[in-house]
Amino acid sequence: NQAQIGVTGLAVMGRNLARNLARHGYTVAVHNRTAARTRALVEEFGHEGDFVPAGTAEEFVAALERPRRLVIMVKAGGPTDAVIEEFAPLLDEGDIVVDGGNAHFADTRRRERALRERGIHFVGAGVSGGEEGALNGPSIMPGGPVEAWEALRPLLEDIAAKAADGTPCTAHIGPDGAGHFVKMVHNGIEYADMQLIAEAYDLLRTVAGYEPARIAEVFRTWSTGRLDSYLVGITAEVLAHTDAATGRPFVDVVADAAEQKGTGRWTVQTALDLGVPVSGIAEAVFARSLSGHTGLREAAAGLPGPRGRALDEGEAARFADRVEQALYASKVVSYAQGWNMVRAASEEYGWDVDPGAVAAVWRGGCIIRAAFLDRVRAAFAADPALPTLLADPGFAEEVGGAQQAWRETVAEAVRHGVPVPGFSAALASYDALRAGRLPASLVQAQRDYFGAHTYRRTDRAGSYHTLWGGDRSEVSADI
Ligand code: NDP
Repeated sequence: NQAQIGVTGLAVMGRNLARNLARHGYTVAVHNRTAARTRALVEEFGHEGDFVPAGTAEEFVAALERPRRLVIMVKAGGPTDAVIEEFAPLLDEGDIVVDGGNAHFADTRRRERALRERGIHFVGAGVSGGEEGALNGPSIMPGGPVEAWEALRPLLEDIAAKAADGTPCTAHIGPDGAGHFVKMVHNGIEYADMQLIAEAYDLLRTVAGYEPARIAEVFRTWSTGRLDSYLVGITAEVLAHTDAATGRPFVDVVADAAEQKGTGRWTVQTALDLGVPVSGIAEAVFARSLSGHTGLREAAAGLPGPRGRALDEGEAARFADRVEQALYASKVVSYAQGWNMVRAASEEYGWDVDPGAVAAVWRGGCIIRAAFLDRVRAAFAADPALPTLLADPGFAEEVGGAQQAWRETVAEAVRHGVPVPGFSAALASYDALRAGRLPASLVQAQRDYFGAHTYRRTDRAGSYHTLWGGDRSEVSADI
């Protein structure tokens, strides 16, 4: 009884992925460093399908049909390298190793290269949807050799989430690190989305004067429209929840310091390296980090400034409508930034990533799943060379239509002392991109003044330098 696929690393993610495969009729070899987890899986869930428990790496490898397909689902970083090193000597040419953990794409590139030299196909697969997704259908973003994708494809399509039109939420993203890169950007966008939703909540609470239960209703209404998404849906659930111990709104008893596991930070670090502005994601990462700086917050807590205002019913309803528009427009900008980053990496590494396929894979299973992503997919399908989502006629019209309400929302937030770094960074990005001319000309002139960094002119070709310390005449800087 040879297994068609194996999973090593049976914590929540690996265990649920193995169960998902078994429930789809595959025979799954299962292995974990600590054998107790393997036994527990078979005891608890053995009835769900065909599992082949393996006590050692050798037994695990021997249980797999050839070419072997094995999925590593262990802690990212050093542990993944340790597991690869343990298994690689036991494998044969043409075998396929999938890393389903949250690897940094640069690590995936390095591992793919090293295993390729040994004739082993290495696939870095981003998996999103948490433990529930792993069991019932995650979004899967595999990167690696196309032959390996073809060999994995039927299995991945079976276990992946399905979009509303029935299409599996998985696709070959590109070579080596492309899958993990796209997963990283997904998480960055997730940070931005969550921050924007949190800002909308803060405005409705602090400026409109709504209670959490009321705000839950507002989010429920919004989620029947263009903001329909998993994250807006769970936000309504959280806001409607009452703490059993105190009877207070649950959101009020949760400590206001947001943590992070690091993929948002990776996104921003990588964007800086690629030179792509992702201000929405960056502001979201900084907002989480600021929230955790208790010392700074306590030290500044008494500083002067307004805080909030309660509007009358009619005003509040109109304000809430403007906040919806600001949230939507800011979301479009953040997503546009994410796609700009995918495009830049695709060019840098020669990945040839299809931007529409990325949107299609995110339509179901993952944390940012939303009806909206089908529109993003359609925008890139209509024009694969679309330079930015904001240039899509549909999105351009919607954002343009929202921009007045967006400005008023940001202005209102500023007036009433409510921090909206996500909304305002998105608006600044929109305004900078649409401005015909930017004050970057002045920055470049300053650079030339103090550092002779030279400048180009608008009226003729070439590089120039002004003799600032001399007679201020201009010289050609071309060699
Ligand atoms: P953890 O990240 O908590 O990792 C625990 C697993 O790693 C256990 O099976 C553990 O084995 C194994 N492990 C740790 N160190 C080693 C080592 N040196 N050698 C061999 N095995 C080792 O598990 P999760 O299930 O939460 O996540 C698995 C992967 O999926 C991670 O890369 C994570 O980032 C990623 N991921 C997680 C998501 C989530 O929602 N949790 C969502 C998407 C991706 P042992 O039992 O012996 O300790």
